[in-house]
Amino acid sequence: MSTMIGLKCRECGRLYPKEVIFVCEYCFGSVEVDYDYDAIRRTLTREAIAARPKTLWRYRELLPIDGEPTVGLHAGFTPLFRAERLADTLGVEELYIKDDSVSHPTLSFKDRVVSIALTRAKELGFDTVACASTGNLANAVAALSARAGLKRYIFIPADLEAGKVVASLVYSPTLVAVEGTYDEVNRLCAEIGAKYPWAFVNINIRPYYAEGSKTYGFEIAEQLGWRAPAHVVIPSAGGSLITKIGKAFKELQRLGLIPEASTKLYCAQAAGCAPIVTAIQARSEIVKPVKPNTLAKSLAIGNPADGYYATRAALGSGGWAEAATDGEIIEAMKLLAETEGVFTETAGGVTLAAAKKLIEQGRIPRDESIVVCITGHGLKTQEPLANRLGTAVRIKPTLAAFEGELAAQLAGEPTRRR
Ligand SMILES: *Cc1c(COP(=O)(O)O)cnc(C)c1O
Ligand SMILES: [Zn+2]
Repeated sequence: MSTMIGLKCRECGRLYPKEVIFVCEYCFGSVEVDYDYDAIRRTLTREAIAARPKTLWRYRELLPIDGEPTVGLHAGFTPLFRAERLADTLGVEELYIKDDSVSHPTLSFKDRVVSIALTRAKELGFDTVACASTGNLANAVAALSARAGLKRYIFIPADLEAGKVVASLVYSPTLVAVEGTYDEVNRLCAEIGAKYPWAFVNINIRPYYAEGSKTYGFEIAEQLGWRAPAHVVIPSAGGSLITKIGKAFKELQRLGLIPEASTKLYCAQAAGCAPIVTAIQARSEIVKPVKPNTLAKSLAIGNPADGYYATRAALGSGGWAEAATDGEIIEAMKLLAETEGVFTETAGGVTLAAAKKLIEQGRIPRDESIVVCITGHGLKTQEPLANRLGTAVRIKPTLAAFEGELAAQLAGEPTRRR
């Protein structure tokens, strides 16, 4: 039985049926899924969850579908682990990485939102899905719609990284590279969506799609032994993930699954596209659009759809925000790889760099629990690392040649670097 009651305006509270509605027709506020929490409390216990498969669907009652899941059956439940070596480097006591760089099937947290969006799109009767994407969403929609047998149109800015383009094209969708910024792609998609009967996962079925991000928060709490951490540092593009992690902890508290907590949420963006960070640092809820200029392309949304809610999530929790320059992003990508063996994309570099700054500023205390959200894989964004890593030691295929290099290394001679 479905626990989803309907849709509710986030501003005026007006109720709507659970159909394809994404703005309130009275106040133009955005709408959000509403659940029957009393019914959920009766079935969703820690034990019931623990007995279910280790996928994001273990929190099914808190997800916006009516029937059984049909798309993305293996998504979610990525590792959360204590990062001791990184903690030593940063000078903090209790640090965790929540690692969606190994998300199934497309190596970013967008597999979560798309699993839910496509399951719901099928329930709503759509046979064609679409999206406006900064790269990872394109990959997830392309892959999961292929497996679901849905027709798909995927719109991206024309200047995306080669890895993101290949990881969409391999599934043979109609991939449309638009000569413009993400914000222009998004505006075009809103027009197309008004004309064609397609499910644009992050536009007309956004209320359902966005709920998928809650599973990232549910997993953090469950994997920490059913408690919310004191601090979470979260990368923001459209600003949805940070609001949904906050909502996830609130729902678990409401259901009595975790103790009362006052988790502080921190927004991380690239300095070259930081409209949400700028608003938070001014203690304002007004997000002024910017024109992005950063190598962290997956986060390059100049006019974030949920920017206002993101500022409220951060400021309302007592958290804060920080931005990272391109140089800091690359250094942080290398730091995470060298200390914890995790190769993250540029967005992960943004998050770790921002976390480092917040710790150094004393905004995040060194003796409380901290989770850093790693949301995508580095193989997809290799361009920024070109010429910034060491090179392989090249030798002839003989033992003597190898030992010659070994001796040189032991003698402290620098290995060949570019
Ligand atoms: C989309 C994305 C985000 C941010 O998501 P929003 O919900 O739009 O703020 C973070 N990290 C990566 C890698 C992404 O692709
Ligand atoms: Zn309203």
